[in-house]
Amino acid sequence: MAPGPPPATLVIDPGHGGADGGTVGNGLIEKDWTLKVGLALAAELRSRGHAVTLTRESDVTVPILERPSWINAAPRLALISIHFNAGSADATGVETWYSWPKKPEIMARLHDAGGVPLPGTLPDDGQHLAQAVQQAVQKHTKSRDRGIKNREDMALTSRTLCPAILIECGFLSNASESRKIQEAEWRKRLVQGIADGYETWLHAHPTRPAAVEAGPLPVVPTASPTPDAEH
Ligand SMILES: [Zn+2]
Repeated sequence: MAPGPPPATLVIDPGHGGADGGTVGNGLIEKDWTLKVGLALAAELRSRGHAVTLTRESDVTVPILERPSWINAAPRLALISIHFNAGSADATGVETWYSWPKKPEIMARLHDAGGVPLPGTLPDDGQHLAQAVQQAVQKHTKSRDRGIKNREDMALTSRTLCPAILIECGFLSNASESRKIQEAEWRKRLVQGIADGYETWLHAHPTRPAAVEAGPLPVVPTASPTPDAEH
């Protein structure tokens, strides 16, 4: 068979890593648990026949603003960024974020590529992927449903050409949820939920990415007066 272009992949982003631990709670460091879930999600989706790649596969530092140019350098079906939350001791539940509109330079690239607003073609705004994943995770984990949320200034989801979501899988700061997060059985249900949601979204989209042939974007340091939300 003649070698073709590489297949478009799903990018799984285990949040934080290395020098960036993320949030902490009840003795847990976020970066450790995002990596466990990210690796398990990659294994699960590969076993279901999906092409998957990860932004990191070990405890290494990958600065948040270096991730988008790597993600945008190849055809991607979507991005799923894995995080855990922290807050008051009684805060619990799962929530999923997306960013629309994205950064102006990303919106310009999407328009140039004819990617928006063409109904029925990827990329979309991330909302449908967020909804599908949030719903499937609720079904599997029975965690409190904090819903899907749009925020334009998210550091990563606002800078990708592909549909992108960030899922906050639970609160390290809550005693009960921090115990669940440490249970392999609970994490398995979480991973099943994310994988099911991704498949639901994929099957609902009749066309595959048209606008992601674009080469790497220049790395544009954020010029906004307030720093982006990094979670
Ligand atoms: Zn985080």
